[in-house]
Amino acid sequence: MSVTDSELDPGIGMTSWRTRQRLIQRLRHAGIHAPEVLAAMQNLPRHLFVDEALASRAYEDSALPIGHGQTISQPYTVALMTQSLLERVTPDTVLEIGTGSGFQTAVLAALVRRVYTVERIQILLEQAQRRLGSLRQRNIRFLHGDGTKGWPDYAPYDGILVTAAPPGIPRILAEQLAPGGVMVLPVGNDMQQVLVRVTRDADGFTQEILDTVSFVPLLTGIS
Ligand code: SAH
Repeated sequence: MSVTDSELDPGIGMTSWRTRQRLIQRLRHAGIHAPEVLAAMQNLPRHLFVDEALASRAYEDSALPIGHGQTISQPYTVALMTQSLLERVTPDTVLEIGTGSGFQTAVLAALVRRVYTVERIQILLEQAQRRLGSLRQRNIRFLHGDGTKGWPDYAPYDGILVTAAPPGIPRILAEQLAPGGVMVLPVGNDMQQVLVRVTRDADGFTQEILDTVSFVPLLTGIS
């Protein structure tokens, strides 16, 4: 006898494997082609990263509020950023700025050896830490801190992913990239920004614009 998704999950229907699969198909149609990224997202219960009241909307391709004026990123954006970060080489270590719900952190942790994640709002960080602990993802280190400074203790990183928008590319972060390393981040002032990929090579840094995106601003200080 096989165990169905609904038996494993009291949320039935809206949080089922099939519902998740529809989202994955949508991402594929939207241009996400990296099989490992699609598989990681198919395997992750996004409904556990939002408030119970929003669980039924967790597999829509939209950003959702997570409290404290912050949002869990749209699945398409998470997939695109991850795909862009991993396109050329799979990084060994990734620094993530803006843990938020921890969903993007979980996607990264499924794909790279170690993730270092920094969040400025303590309550969000603690929630994310509990969730990721219950999913038994053990290759993540958490820091409550101001991510505009990066996390120098473990630098340099092969990859850096920033999930809140600074007005320009922060030099401090770029300098924590290893040679050949890649940083993906939203850049801009308003709610509309461009998604940029910065690559560190022997001569310095190169930049590519990947898309337009909408992120909350990268703030300084902690809360
Ligand atoms: N990837 C997260 C996105 C959360 S929104 C998710 O999908 O859930 C962006 C997050 O960046 C917020 O939690 C916000 O508090 C955090 N943030 C903003 N400025 C920051 C900073 N300077 N350092 C660390 N985190 C920051």
